[in-house]
Amino acid sequence: MNQTNYHSHCDFCDGKAPMEAFVKEAVAEGFSAYGVSSHAPLPFPSHYTMVKERVPEYLQEIARLRALYDDRIELYAGMEIDYLDKDSHPANAYFQSLPLDYRIGSVHLIYTDEGRLIDTDTSSEHFHALLAQYFKGDLRRMVGAYFQASMEMVELGGFDFVGHADKIAYNAECCVPGVTGEAWYAQLRNDFFDLVAEKGLMLEINTKAWLKRQRFFPDKSCWKGIAERGIPVVVNSDSHLPSLINAGRREALEGLKAMGFRTVRELHGGKWQDVPIGA
Ligand SMILES: [Zn+2]
Ligand SMILES: [Zn+2]
Repeated sequence: MNQTNYHSHCDFCDGKAPMEAFVKEAVAEGFSAYGVSSHAPLPFPSHYTMVKERVPEYLQEIARLRALYDDRIELYAGMEIDYLDKDSHPANAYFQSLPLDYRIGSVHLIYTDEGRLIDTDTSSEHFHALLAQYFKGDLRRMVGAYFQASMEMVELGGFDFVGHADKIAYNAECCVPGVTGEAWYAQLRNDFFDLVAEKGLMLEINTKAWLKRQRFFPDKSCWKGIAERGIPVVVNSDSHLPSLINAGRREALEGLKAMGFRTVRELHGGKWQDVPIGA
């Protein structure tokens, strides 16, 4: 019943439990496939990513667990890789050289006009402060910088699916309610989805905020457009706690079906495949 997840964290990055605790939970909940996708190292120290020195150990631990749980679950090695700029992104030589089963491309950080990197994936209070401090309150410019980074990431490629597309929508809405329905915002989002379709990439339906905020990334209001563009989707929980690996999955699958999707993409036997919803 589409019991898979390919976006998950653990204590190699900012996840709150050892990798094995997540795998055990996935087995207990009857998942057929599970991908570990810690935040990939950044070129500077950060609170949420894995450090580069631990990448070999990370891959070894996945291999160990894969052998150990082989008869119960398909286990995959992934990474959630940040797009920062033209040097640091999923397609660069280092990330492409890693023996991963798949890669996720995500934007969390954007550059300000002064060349400072700021985190858009933060509390709405902090986001508000960043907007005032670095963009003089101009939300359109800040959202524009986010989508520009997202477009550059998709242009360069090197990854399998886009992580939580349009995640900035939540914080943008907190600053200016209704803003994601404005024409300029819709244009940025539509241009982005057009490019994802053109490049033949998959989009994730990220369920991480479902329990807390009844919101998916990208938002349900975009799903019809995604279906019309023929973009394949992968439903993932992006969980940082073992107890949340399945949160929002059923609701997302039901929503997708209602919006015209017949299948979701799942990685099985090392290949992404279209699997009927409810099969
Ligand atoms: Zn992320
Ligand atoms: Zn994540």
